[in-house]
This record gives sequence, structure tokens and C-alpha cells, in this order.
Amino acid sequence: MYKDLENKVAVVTGGSKGIGTAISERFGKEKMKVVVNYNSDKEGADEAVAAIKEAGGEAVAVQADVSTEEGINRLLETALNKFGQLDIWVNNAGMENQSATHELSLEDWEKVIKVNLTGVFLGTKAALNYFKGETRKGNIINMSSVHEQIPWPTFAHYAASKGGVKLFTETVAMEYAPDHIRINSIGPGAIKTPINAEKFEDPKQKEILENMIPMARVGQPKEIAAAAAWLASEESSYVTGITLFVDGGMTLFPSFQGGKG
Ligand code: NAD
Repeated sequence: MYKDLENKVAVVTGGSKGIGTAISERFGKEKMKVVVNYNSDKEGADEAVAAIKEAGGEAVAVQADVSTEEGINRLLETALNKFGQLDIWVNNAGMENQSATHELSLEDWEKVIKVNLTGVFLGTKAALNYFKGETRKGNIINMSSVHEQIPWPTFAHYAASKGGVKLFTETVAMEYAPDHIRINSIGPGAIKTPINAEKFEDPKQKEILENMIPMARVGQPKEIAAAAAWLASEESSYVTGITLFVDGGMTLFPSFQGGKG
């Protein structure tokens, strides 16, 4: 637990399931005040809110599509109206779908880019404007992926969005370091959440996946939440512009395991 996080106010996008819920619940354990965003799954967001309150934090669920300015503004306004301030903004919402690139529709390309990259831009912009206006230390955390580094055939739009998040994070980190605003990404490997539930249900797919991970297991959402809590806390006060890979070693070229090559 990080003492300095107590009573801090956070917005977590896509908090109604998976990694976003785990981060929201971890922030609850840190006794923070959390705006839990959902797009359509109100029930999931309400469960996260209940868990945060149970753990000693405060929380409210807010509907918003992160790819719209109107939705992002609603999240910021709720944080300010209900909790009086904003300290940490987590751009976690994301989506993926699979298609060979030559068959990928413009509609699917735009959907993924809008949520995964434009959503990160809009959330970051809103948070930056607030932090600069208040001249307070600000902290932004983006959910990237190992696929900001590892190419992923048939997921070109997803990989492009996460590659975009990498350079966006680095650029904004450099631009706003003089304002005492930190921004970092987390690069999860294969984490057991609804986004990839099907893969984990198929034993063959699961085995293929585990062979790509030196630690030979998939990760749990709470292991990503632990990284988010550290980046949110003052324990990481000198860290900005990085991607913290939390991936069991997936980015370490595992095919070279055992001295192959
Ligand atoms: P998930 O599908 O369980 O959760 C994604 C969340 O984003 C959901 O709550 C969903 O409602 C929300 N969302 C989607 N579109 C939205 C929109 N327009 N507005 C608001 N919310 C929206 O997936 P997850 O695994 O928890 O993924 C969370 C983040 O982590 C994503 O950015 C994803 O790309 C990233 N990630 C996940 C993995 C993994 O293995 N699970 C690996 C690398 C990166």
C-alpha cells in the first residue's frame, strides 16, 4: 500500500471489467476516490464501485464513450464536482478484433483507433488542461500493450494504436515534464480478462500462448493493477515517459530460449 495515495482522486476508463476493474479495486484498497467509467456495462461498473467502497475508498460509476470529447468531459466534471479535484487519470479503455489486413474494413480500423488511440489523446488532453490550470502535480497512466513493440499479424489496427500510444506517451512526457506532470504507459502481456477469454478456454491456444511467455503462465489483472498503483504513487516520482512491461518476459524474444539461434 502507498500512503500518499490515500484520498487521491482518480478517473479509470473502461473500469467495468478486466484490467480496469482490477485497477479501480486496487485504488479502493489504497483508500482513493475513483470515477469508474463504463461504456455499456453499468452492472460491472456498479460492482467495481461496491468493491471500492467495501475496501474503504469512495467511488462513482459514470457512463462515457472515451472516443468522444463529451464523454471525457463528463468524467472530468464528475471527478471535480463529486470529489473536488483530480490527481490521476488512467486511460485504460481498449478494444481489439481480428482481421487479415487486406480484409480489414475502414469501419473496424477506425473503431479501434478511436477507442485505443484517440481515447488516450482525449483523456490525456482533458487531464493536462486541468493539471496545468491548477498548477498541481499530475499523473497520467496509459494502458498500452506488448504490441506497442511486438508486431501482431491480423491485428494491424490494434498494433498501430498501441505503437501510437508509445510515442504519444513519450512525447507528452517530454512536453509536460517542466509542469511536473508525469505520464507513463503499462505494457501488459497476456492477461486473463474478458478481452481474450476465448483464447484461454481453448487448451491448444492456451499452450501456444504460454510457450511465448518465459514465465510460462498468463498474468492476472491484479498484477497490472499493482504496476498502476506504483506509477500512481510518489514511489515512482522520478519516472516519466516509460512503458512498464508487465508480461512474464514476453518482450524478451522467448524463441531464443535455451540458446537457440
Ligand atoms: P476488457 O475487454 O476486459 O476491458 C476493456 C474495457 O474497455 C471494458 O470495460 C470496455 O467496456 C471498455 N471500453 C471499450 N470501448 C470503450 C469506449 N468507447 N468507452 C469507454 N470504455 C470502453 O479488456 P482488458 O483486457 O481489461 O483491457 C484493458 C486494456 O488493457 C485495453 O487497453 C487493452 O488493449 C489492454 N491490454 C490488455 C491485454 C490483455 O491480455 N488482457 C494485453 C495488453 C493490453
